[in-house]
Amino acid sequence: MPTKAAIIPTIIVGIGYGVRVRSPETLAQRFRESDLKVTSQRVAVFEALGTMPGHRTAEQIHRAVIETVPNMSLRTVYQILRELVDLGELQMLELGTGAIQYDHNLSPHHHLVCNECGAVVDIPSHLAMVSHEAVADLGVTVSSTELVMRGTCRACCDTGQDSNKSRSQQTKQQIGDPHA
Ligand SMILES: [Zn+2]
Ligand SMILES: [Zn+2]
Repeated sequence: MPTKAAIIPTIIVGIGYGVRVRSPETLAQRFRESDLKVTSQRVAVFEALGTMPGHRTAEQIHRAVIETVPNMSLRTVYQILRELVDLGELQMLELGTGAIQYDHNLSPHHHLVCNECGAVVDIPSHLAMVSHEAVADLGVTVSSTELVMRGTCRACCDTGQDSNKSRSQQTKQQIGDPHA
């Protein structure tokens, strides 16, 4: 049987700048305060979330949860995630990746979606300022800005550099030995 750690994707992205991942105990406490029962299914989702920082889809969380509660449906996971969003413990994001992402980071920030691997990376708001005043000239009122950038994440940039390096080494070898 795979261990719990083995099912967690190895690329952990977008943990960002001091993002608080809530402990299962904290989330259970929040549910009790809101007169919601702390069922074993809810606890399983809280525990999965505690081990999954960054941005996650319901499917990813479901895969982790069924390790401990094998008969739990994806639908139930969606419902519990929805409750967490309603309680303000998770942020729900539609980033054009084909699936809703659940984000532990509740502070205002932007995102970069990696074209190579689909990873979602937090971008601090102050790094991509949009002038609300300038936009207001169009006769609209802006209440908040959430940018979705497309590009390449750090891990894919590093991998790309490595393969470029080995490609150029290969080319040099071919050029260096005309008899090869
Ligand atoms: Zn990537
Ligand atoms: Zn985020």
